[in-house]
Amino acid sequence: MTAPDSDFPLTAAAAEALVREAVDEGRLDVGPALRLAHSLLEPGVLDVVCEGAFESKRRGKGDVVTVSRNVFIPLTNLCRNRCSYCSFAKPPDSPEAHTYSLEEVVEVVRGGVMTGCTEALLCLGDKPEIAYKSHRAWLAERGLGTTVDLVLEASKVAFAGDMLPHTNAGILSIEEMESLRPWNASMGLMMETTSQRLRGKGMAHHYAHDKDPKLRIRMHEEAGELKIPFTTGLLLGIGENDAERVDTLATIRDIQDRFGHLQEIIVQPFHPKPETPMRHVSPIRDDEVVGWVAITRLVMGPEMNVQAPPNLAPDMLPRLVGSGLNDWGGVSPVTVDFINPEAPWPAIDRLRELTESGGQKLRDRGPVYPDWILERDEFFDPQLRAVLPRFATDEGYARRPHCQSKEEAA
Ligand code: SF4
Repeated sequence: MTAPDSDFPLTAAAAEALVREAVDEGRLDVGPALRLAHSLLEPGVLDVVCEGAFESKRRGKGDVVTVSRNVFIPLTNLCRNRCSYCSFAKPPDSPEAHTYSLEEVVEVVRGGVMTGCTEALLCLGDKPEIAYKSHRAWLAERGLGTTVDLVLEASKVAFAGDMLPHTNAGILSIEEMESLRPWNASMGLMMETTSQRLRGKGMAHHYAHDKDPKLRIRMHEEAGELKIPFTTGLLLGIGENDAERVDTLATIRDIQDRFGHLQEIIVQPFHPKPETPMRHVSPIRDDEVVGWVAITRLVMGPEMNVQAPPNLAPDMLPRLVGSGLNDWGGVSPVTVDFINPEAPWPAIDRLRELTESGGQKLRDRGPVYPDWILERDEFFDPQLRAVLPRFATDEGYARRPHCQSKEEAA
């Protein structure tokens, strides 16, 4: 990793020269990325980084920002890991511990369809059956061997209920991903960070076996071998430094260069939760979030879909629009963000207003991006390929198949 040199910190003019070169060449290299990262909060630097990232985004994505109306189904909030920042995972004796029955999945899916959602986001803790006997018994009572068996059944239920599932179930084997692929339009795993340091004593991932970067990189690669449209991302503010953030981006870019299956990168800021071991950590500054969205765009280039969740930096949305993102991710009219329940989704109309105030047009997408639906047949199992046109307009944006009128549906 390149160290900052004698020209450090960068002036706005020096930063602009690096950014200009990156925009013209289509990607920002690791060395310049680190220099910009170290200088991000110097006078004028954030503005030139954002301007360059916005231009790169417009070259690849035009003046469109997308959003996916979804229902969030936290299939189980039991987890074998204990990340120090997590308030989602609960032990089985907690009154808040819950594993969804398939009947409950049916209910949520029905609510999503009624409100024009196309994506069923299945999100859950990592392999809780390894840690908890009571969960193994719960699964066995229902004829299920593992939590992934439950994910498979829930995917089928959501698919049959007229939604497109997107699963993020933590670390999965290649065989498990293969079994889920016919029922999931896309899948995901946040890379979060490639830092091994954060697995050390007292660090965020010390008690989280599945946050070993080697496991996460391998799963990204295996998803690539299977040609699964895949979501990844960075988690900002869990103790990682600039060099580790840049390394995470470079690793993601290398995987994309080799497999080409990464359809989006989420840039997600961590907010300290009161009941967690990391409750006293200072939250990442909003300016930094904006800056790292921009650096992500510049490192990944104009074609990548770069996403920032609008509920996690709600005061910065107009600035985020100008920082090179082209997607707000999933926003639900039905369910809360179960990972960050303290952070409500903005209303879609408000999101549209704020997006348009930055000169951008808000369009609805499904769990797969329009160009993937239109141009990348090889990434979908035949049964998914057969139904995708029902969920997409001629341009690949979301169409709600249950709506009668053309205006309602598009
Ligand atoms: S793996 Fe995910 S659900 Fe489990 S403790 Fe870590 S952040 Fe929470």
